[in-house]
Amino acid sequence: LIITAPRRIKALDPDVVNKIAAGEIIVAPVHALKELIENSVDAGSTSLEVVVKDGGLKLLQITDNGHGIDREDLPILCERFTTSKLKAFEDLTSIGTYGFRGEALASISHIAHLTVTTKTKDSNVAYKAHYDSGHLVPAKPGQSADPKPTAGRQGTQITVEDLFYNVPTRRRAFRSASEEYNKILDVVGRYAVHCDGVAFSCKKSGESSTTIATHSKSSTVDRIRQIYNSAVANELIEFRSSDEKYGFRAQGWTTNANYHVKKTTLLLFINHRSVDSTNIRKAIEQTYSTFLPRGGHPFIYLSLEIEPSRVDVNVHPTKREVNFLNEDEVIEKICADIRTKLANVDTSRTFMTQT
Ligand code: ADP
Ligand code: MG
Repeated sequence: LIITAPRRIKALDPDVVNKIAAGEIIVAPVHALKELIENSVDAGSTSLEVVVKDGGLKLLQITDNGHGIDREDLPILCERFTTSKLKAFEDLTSIGTYGFRGEALASISHIAHLTVTTKTKDSNVAYKAHYDSGHLVPAKPGQSADPKPTAGRQGTQITVEDLFYNVPTRRRAFRSASEEYNKILDVVGRYAVHCDGVAFSCKKSGESSTTIATHSKSSTVDRIRQIYNSAVANELIEFRSSDEKYGFRAQGWTTNANYHVKKTTLLLFINHRSVDSTNIRKAIEQTYSTFLPRGGHPFIYLSLEIEPSRVDVNVHPTKREVNFLNEDEVIEKICADIRTKLANVDTSRTFMTQT
């Protein structure tokens, strides 16, 4: 009988821990991009340009015209849990901006080459900084890691190159760049519809034509027309719903009974974050089942604002399903209001054909 001594327990190297955490937050290029879009919108941008190469694996670049980042903040920008949006735990319950964890840029810097060029209103130059594993690094070996003054307009440009270069198993899991690009277009399209007053563009690197381009002044319906199609846009009805008791306010556009397709398109935003909710999707499909032919489904854009204290904000970043209090009651109220709208349109159409 051989009894071996137990192996000693050791703490993992912090770099390894951070790399593991990063890989959990960012599974595909689109997850990094979603965080970057939210940061740009948080910074008050009215213009947001996205450039992508190889489905985002080679290059993801986002240029905004927001308030920029102070030069003094650049050294800690990519450290974990650094944020300008949260000071105390209590703030979690009253947070109005999208991100609150201060983990996005840190994560990206652990699994990609990250470059930030930024200029604030009060600075007369822009600064360019390179990051690796949370820290400033020189552009080339031997140079200084300090941010370098450079020419640039107000706002921030974030360049993410060679995503997953140091996570070969993850990198090999991607089979098609166009599949990743489609996921990116889906997310950019969703935010382009939702973010009133913000112009979006998205294109492949090296191509002159954009795949998505919206103006900052376009109406919601026009943005839906540009990103989806006229067939949807021509059949939209606006709806609103709210209930003080349940602390929510909802607003959106949904197709009438003239329109139906094989699969539901649900653009769902809860407190301005693009999320999924199987419960909401099912309830909406149920609502439409009496208005549409069998197998027909609607298109719906729904922006739901819920008192932050009622939303479970501590969900993991990759967990895109959000939970909130009185979910059943809130969903039922929204669906009842949509049903009323649909019924109104239905009767007015009947009247029209009768006269
Ligand atoms: P969080 O968004 O949760 O604060 P991030 O890691 O996404 O964490 O970003 C860290 C900080 O970097 C933000 O709090 C913000 O101050 C700054 N920042 C990131 N992106 C931008 C941007 N596009 N414009 C201005 N500031 C930015
Ligand atoms: Mg963020």
